[in-house]
Amino acid sequence: MQGVRARIAAACAACGRGQSEVALLAVSKTWPAACVADAAGAGQRAFGENYVQEGVAKVQALGALSLAWHFIGPLQSNKTRLVANHFDWVHSVDRLRIAERLASQRDPHLPPLNICLQVNVSGEASKSGAAPEEIPSLARQVAGLPQITLRGLMAIPEPSPDRTLLAARFAVVRHLREALEADGIALDTLSMGMSDDLEVAIAEGATIVRVGTAIFGARGASQSP
Ligand SMILES: *Cc1c(COP(=O)(O)O)cnc(C)c1O
Repeated sequence: MQGVRARIAAACAACGRGQSEVALLAVSKTWPAACVADAAGAGQRAFGENYVQEGVAKVQALGALSLAWHFIGPLQSNKTRLVANHFDWVHSVDRLRIAERLASQRDPHLPPLNICLQVNVSGEASKSGAAPEEIPSLARQVAGLPQITLRGLMAIPEPSPDRTLLAARFAVVRHLREALEADGIALDTLSMGMSDDLEVAIAEGATIVRVGTAIFGARGASQSP
């Protein structure tokens, strides 16, 4: 955890950003609730989960800790109700139907659900995310829904050793945010960057980096989910 925080601080310093501009989301998928509790004890408050049942189980088990829970995995319509009512954020909304279901299923007594639209920045190589050209109209429609707050954009570029290519992928997301802002839709969140590419993402404007392996270690078959 301290190593990741140091990497974030160094990456912010290298591009003249303040460290407080970049939040760390600890991706705890496949790790048991006890690991999350340890990280919470070390001061980490926000956790990311990819799988609905596993995530909901941890949210319930650790309810007393008042953590912030972000759903970051692929989301099917038959699972939206659980996600709408157990998580604080959803980063992986890539079509209107899912956003509408989250909006109508979110308990009105809860604060609005924070939403990011997932952008497919790697074309054919990725099956998740809306195409960049679909984002402006999707954002306009999602921004008008009740019980949710459109906060920003999320992307997962194909892994690559080519830092220039990764920077170009992340820049697509930054430019989309700028275009939306010019269009009257102000967003405060760019969710991009993982264990292997967080420095590149921070240089391109990331405000949340989603980090699993560099905090918890490698996810392996021997590990009990
Ligand atoms: C697993 C995952 C991460 C974390 O990846 P690491 O390489 O382990 O840091 C981040 N975002 C999403 C959407 C993920 O599925």
